[in-house]
Amino acid sequence: MPELPEVETVRRRLLTCLPGLIVRDVRVNDPTVCDVAAEDLRGGVVGRRVVGLRRRGKYLVIDLGPTGAAAPAGRPRGTPSPAGPPPAAGPPSSTGRLLVVHLRMTGQLIFRPQAGAPPSRFVIAMEPATELHFSDVRRFGRLWSLDPGDEDAFFAAMGPEPFSAAFDIACLRAAMAGRRAPLKAFLLDQRRIAGVGNIYADEALFRARLNPLRAAGSVGPREARRLHAAILETLQAGIDHEGSSIESFIDPAGARGSFQEILNVYQRTSEPCRVCGTAIERVVVGGRGTHYCPRCQPRRGGIAPTVRRLRPTGPAGKRDARGTPSVM
Ligand SMILES: [Zn+2]
Repeated sequence: MPELPEVETVRRRLLTCLPGLIVRDVRVNDPTVCDVAAEDLRGGVVGRRVVGLRRRGKYLVIDLGPTGAAAPAGRPRGTPSPAGPPPAAGPPSSTGRLLVVHLRMTGQLIFRPQAGAPPSRFVIAMEPATELHFSDVRRFGRLWSLDPGDEDAFFAAMGPEPFSAAFDIACLRAAMAGRRAPLKAFLLDQRRIAGVGNIYADEALFRARLNPLRAAGSVGPREARRLHAAILETLQAGIDHEGSSIESFIDPAGARGSFQEILNVYQRTSEPCRVCGTAIERVVVGGRGTHYCPRCQPRRGGIAPTVRRLRPTGPAGKRDARGTPSVM
């Protein structure tokens, strides 16, 4: 599943080409991708110019400018004249609009889908001639169109951004205090920290030398400092490697990331630990495959009381179950 580094990679790629373009059309081929009718979606965004791209946790936010008299009239300087009819814009609006995308399990925002790929669930057509396709084999991805005034409510339940000043060691310690949930489940909980998923949680815990089954509330001050640093270092490494392309992740230009080449524990069940040589183990925590080195990440401090049964799984169970994700 794309996590913070993958969505950030998508954002950075789109940032090189989308700002300044005008939304000409949104074609919804799969109505389940969005909770409003396609016509309402189009009416809200067609004719608006892309003015920015942001990321919140694992969500990509496309900022669109106002329409009508208040909108900037011209095309970006140096761009060719658009072909075809002018965009069918909704009523003039002096406020902007947000398109929010969550890639979930297999979503890809790409300029050119692979030949033979299933139909794109939606396509954003822009001028000058640009099409952004949402390809999503497992169809868990989602699209929202929001008024800027609704953004805070939309993201109200989400925890702090790891790279924001709000996410300091004190913040992490306060979030962990008293929590009986295992560390792995704690890291996946988007209400605690935004953007961490299965891959980067396993890798951050290895880097912090903390057992994923330990209760979050049992982590001491020194360990919390290590975990805080490990979360940031792991996510930054993921961004530096332009994401993990273990399954389907590619960036909008079709390029694969390379973080999977330096994984320490994730999906390395039974392979030797890169530090101590011990075989990496896999257990299921909160329904998610969890990988760790039993020697580098000892069960100091016991295991979380919420972990009832431990069933180590061998190489046959190497790949994660592919059920509906319980966290976003
Ligand atoms: Zn080890």
